[in-house]
Amino acid sequence: MMEKLLPNLLYFQELNKFMIDAHCHLNFQTFVSDVEEVIGRAKDKDINIINVGTALDSSKTAIELAEKYPGLYATVGIHPHHADKLELNWEVEFEKLAKHPKVVAIGETGIDYFRYESNGITNKNLQRKLFAKQIKIAHRLDLPLMIHNRQAGEDILKVLNENKPLLKNLPGLFHCFSGDVEFLKKVLNLGFYVGFDGNITYPGIAKGETTALFDLIKYAPIDKIISETDSPYLTPIPHRGERNEPSFVKFVVEFIAEVKNLTKKEVAEKTSKNATNLFRLS
Ligand SMILES: [Zn+2]
Ligand SMILES: [Zn+2]
Repeated sequence: MMEKLLPNLLYFQELNKFMIDAHCHLNFQTFVSDVEEVIGRAKDKDINIINVGTALDSSKTAIELAEKYPGLYATVGIHPHHADKLELNWEVEFEKLAKHPKVVAIGETGIDYFRYESNGITNKNLQRKLFAKQIKIAHRLDLPLMIHNRQAGEDILKVLNENKPLLKNLPGLFHCFSGDVEFLKKVLNLGFYVGFDGNITYPGIAKGETTALFDLIKYAPIDKIISETDSPYLTPIPHRGERNEPSFVKFVVEFIAEVKNLTKKEVAEKTSKNATNLFRLS
């Protein structure tokens, strides 16, 4: 028994030396010309990366990138913005993609009620239906969820609770967490992890929010926190204004360490271990 367990255990400890960027979009157009250099800079800092799909084509690109690099993983998902732009029979292609061995989650999926200048708010009912559908697919394929929430916390909880029997013990990650402490408690009670990005380094409270991210990090147990960048967006200070990239996750880790009064190394190890557990990275 021991001999069988030992190699796995060693490998697990190895993984803990790394940092994790559990949510980014190297599959987006802005990285087309220099994705190799961007991944190289992350590798130099031993950062593992989960590259997130937002539609069928970007999910496919995420998988193609994951096939090329160790330590790079993919997710397959339809972002709520794309709820009204689905092709007929999209589910067939979706499930085929999601069965790839380097796919570690379904998402980003969820609900988004923020009014964007480019496309306003996508039909709310369509968003909720598409979210529920992806919960069912995640259940069928035994994958955790990568959840996107923007000012839709209550409706997301409603859909999750309606589908509670389909959620795994470790059901997934609320990426780029925002909301208030009451909402955070409910999310943690369902077993979810919470992801924080470079916007935690911005001063003040974001438009439409009531609670500073600083206070949410303070409340969330370190065993439930995962670091991410959402690159190319949400670039942390001191690089705010530039395009974001996974190597900048170190600023996110540093900030969390300060808030939690832990060392940077402890936070890097913990968040990496959390992501390894949740997404079963190997
Ligand atoms: Zn998102
Ligand atoms: Zn994203």
